Amino acid sequence: MSETTQKMYIGGHWVPAATGQTREIINPFNQQVIASVAEGDREEARAAIAAARQCFDSGIWSEQSGAARGALLYRLAELIERERESLAVLESLDTGKTVEESRWDMDDIAGIFRYYAGLADKDAGEVIDSPIADSSSRVIREPVGVCGQISPWNYPLLQASWKLAPALAAGCTVVIKPSEITPLTTIRVTELAIEAGFPSGVINTVLGPGVSVGAELAESPDVDLISFTGSLQTGKAIMRAASGNVKKIALELGGKNPNIIFADADLDVAVDYALNGVFFHAGQICSAGTRLLVEASIHDNFVARLKARMEKIRLGDGFAEGTQMGPLISAEHRAKVENYVKIAQEEGAKLELGGKRPDDPELQAGFFYLPTLFTACTNDMRIVQEEVFGPVISIETFSDETEAMNRANSSIYGLAAGFWTRNPDRIHRLSKGLRFGTVWVNDFNVYFTQAPWGGYKQSGLGRELGRSGLEEYTEVKHIFQNHSPKPINWFGI
Ligand code: NAD
Repeated sequence: MSETTQKMYIGGHWVPAATGQTREIINPFNQQVIASVAEGDREEARAAIAAARQCFDSGIWSEQSGAARGALLYRLAELIERERESLAVLESLDTGKTVEESRWDMDDIAGIFRYYAGLADKDAGEVIDSPIADSSSRVIREPVGVCGQISPWNYPLLQASWKLAPALAAGCTVVIKPSEITPLTTIRVTELAIEAGFPSGVINTVLGPGVSVGAELAESPDVDLISFTGSLQTGKAIMRAASGNVKKIALELGGKNPNIIFADADLDVAVDYALNGVFFHAGQICSAGTRLLVEASIHDNFVARLKARMEKIRLGDGFAEGTQMGPLISAEHRAKVENYVKIAQEEGAKLELGGKRPDDPELQAGFFYLPTLFTACTNDMRIVQEEVFGPVISIETFSDETEAMNRANSSIYGLAAGFWTRNPDRIHRLSKGLRFGTVWVNDFNVYFTQAPWGGYKQSGLGRELGRSGLEEYTEVKHIFQNHSPKPINWFGI
């Protein structure tokens, strides 16, 4: 392991992998190596869990006042703001997304730490009106304990912050494992947390593959809660692994998110948001609105406008002025997207645009894929039902509201849905009838820290963000006190 290889942070120490293994981190824009990191294994995961356990049980963090925990979280938010530009650059090098998008991410992330800093001392519990004479009854929330946190590669630090900030505010200790291909900003924020003054053992950062390091977090009897963001398949594996000690589970999984355009919508805005809903970060967004349902009477007009706009999307280096879309994350992921495009054609969808890699010689070293549009899609096609996680839109048509709603709901996923109409009664009916964790009316892909985020059905379990995001990291305790205990003599004297 070279001097420059970045290490894991366990129990207050930076440590290399015991095996000496390292991993090269690649820039998906040009495949250049941008860093070398320690490649941990189960051994490091166990050491990190032990450190988090010891720290939690000591009470050094969990028994601090909420205000004291909040103060450190505020400090961390300030440090993230101080490092906004360098963090954004690191995130874009690691993911290929435009640096402008990464800057927005960093602003969000600082805001998330601030929001939970503010909530840390707000919940003093609840006094219940006890039905028993001369007694009192209180309900309080306590930190759940040691939390394993596993994050994905698409929004590496943003997804990590949705987990870290509420867990720390609640008084938990954590072992965080970023995706093995995008660990750099999580490592950097660990350094900032040390600078902020978090006690040793509160935050432990482990690196390495999901199948070993991640699986150890999910299986360990010393972990009280596992929070995971990633694919449905991995989420199911984590649920199984977590059953050993019936640990609490929070899952943010995939989505296949319908965006429904009614004929009475403002088409200029709807077309614009159809693009925004999909092509940020090349469609690698869990809430991407890649499944468009368009009312039959406006289909041709809508497709023509959408196509014209899609043709103008500028692919390129995320650091170059004017770039609107970067590459996909890896060669393997692009191969997955390409396979879906092939399947869609085999199943009879009509390719209107894209469906291939760009010809531009300057983009050949990156994992680029052109914005792709399919029409003539039907409900049963895999391109309509499965998450592609790339810049690929499928369009279906519908003839009335009920058909649109039933089709949108016919999915194993239930993360987010949007629709466009000016009809107030329809807005009421659809907002209620769509079975999704988030419903956008005349908008798409809006999220903010104050509102809960999570999925119905197989899109997940539990909620992140908002007050719900903090409550995930707490246990509820009822404390009942009898103020004048006397014998009841039920069993005689
Ligand atoms: P992934 O499931 O391949 O990996 C996610 C994380 O899990 C990584 O850190 C990985 O190392 C780890 N992992 C892999 N196998 C594991 C195992 N057996 N046990 C424990 N950990 C394991 O997902 P990905 O490809 O990194 O991310 C893309 C997926 O994430 C998409 O499906 C996307 O929809 C989903 N996602 C969901 C949300 C949301 O809010 N619902 C947000 C972002 C991403």
